[in-house]
Amino acid sequence: MEMLHYTAEHRRFRERLRSFCQKEVIPNIEKWEQEGLVPKEIWQKLGREGFLCTAVSPEYGGLGGDFLYSVIALEEMTRTNHYGLDAFLHSDIVVPYIDSFGCEEQKKKYLPGCVSGDIITAVAMTEPDVGSDLASMTTSAVEEGEDVIINGTKTFISNGFNCDLVVVAARDPAVENPYQAISLYLVEASTAGFKKGIPLPKLGVHSQDTTELFFTNCRIPTKNRLGHKGTGFPKLMEKLQQERLLVAILAKTMAEFILEWTSDHLQKKHAHNGSKSIPKALQFALVEMATEVKLAKTFLEKLICDHMEGKHIVAETSMAKYWNTEMANRIADRCLNLCGEFGMLESCPIVRTFRDVRVTTIFAGTNEIMKGIVAKSLGL
Ligand SMILES: Cc1cc2nc3c(=O)[nH]c(=O)nc-3n(C[C@H](O)[C@H](O)[C@H](O)COP(=O)(O)OP(=O)(O)OC[C@H]3O[C@@H](n4cnc5c(N)ncnc54)[C@H](O)[C@@H]3O)c2cc1C
Repeated sequence: MEMLHYTAEHRRFRERLRSFCQKEVIPNIEKWEQEGLVPKEIWQKLGREGFLCTAVSPEYGGLGGDFLYSVIALEEMTRTNHYGLDAFLHSDIVVPYIDSFGCEEQKKKYLPGCVSGDIITAVAMTEPDVGSDLASMTTSAVEEGEDVIINGTKTFISNGFNCDLVVVAARDPAVENPYQAISLYLVEASTAGFKKGIPLPKLGVHSQDTTELFFTNCRIPTKNRLGHKGTGFPKLMEKLQQERLLVAILAKTMAEFILEWTSDHLQKKHAHNGSKSIPKALQFALVEMATEVKLAKTFLEKLICDHMEGKHIVAETSMAKYWNTEMANRIADRCLNLCGEFGMLESCPIVRTFRDVRVTTIFAGTNEIMKGIVAKSLGL
């Protein structure tokens, strides 16, 4: 019995997105990878077709869909064998900050543009010397009457070059306790004192604009704060469950894609050489990997159900994030090996996923941080 109940509408959404990707994404991937950037127009096309921010209520232009739409959107975008168009970060990680914590005025102002793809969002937590230990961030936000003045540098910000709006985590330097010092602010890209760096050249995800962001006496109105002052840290923590669950789904889908492609490739190759079937050793390697993907899928289906029921599953999503991303890296490595010398060529389709999957153990909280969370939950 399937644990997840996809309706006819969910299935239509998947089919529509799959054919959109065939037409609008897949033919352009090579170009985007070479240019190191995905053009803004594709965001608007996605928005026009209703593929962005599906969870946002119809009142603000969204579909008001359940989490299964987010799962479908992520799976279909990942199955393009390209992870530079970071729509799930926008739709299901950043926009939920505005949707959950924004006031009516902020929602009315920003959500319709987020849904239509006219506003691309990013979230800025990481700094040049601050990654895992977010409590020690130094970017400052000093509130003076109706204004907030932000100073500091953020780095490794996905969608950083294309973004129109950034959710920025910054601290009040006058408050010592880091858990009460951090607030979240909405900074529009056109604000004076806000500057974007150029996309950082990376090992993988070449077309994703991972960028530094600079704030120099960047003055925004206090009304751009998300929620009360000093409540940023718990807000970040609250949203990490969904972020890590999505990264676990991303990794599972990458593994699934690589495995399907490799299995198909090996069968065709051996058929071409006149063999009836592929050698037992290769069959067993594929069986072992298929078992790992099946385990990942089954665990994920349970977590998706729990997440949709609003359960607190931080330890379990941390387990899934670390295990699935390590599994996907193992499978990418093993499949590339099974391709032999072809696996060393850029023309081998899984080479891109082999590179792109590497980051999944690092971002959204490194796997060591995930294990630390699980250790705590086990009372260790
Ligand atoms: C492609 C990409 C996109 C990103 N996008 C964003 C984004 O959009 N927004 C954003 O804010 N950030 C983003 N990041 C940053 C990402 O969240 C950080 O890289 C991540 O939090 C880890 O921080 P760090 O790289 O500074 O590693 P560090 O924290 O310096 O860790 C280095 C190593 O030490 C280990 N380590 C650290 N602390 C512990 C501990 N307590 N116990 C055990 N081991 C530990 C880590 O596991 C890691 O192996 C992105 C990063 C990449 C690579």
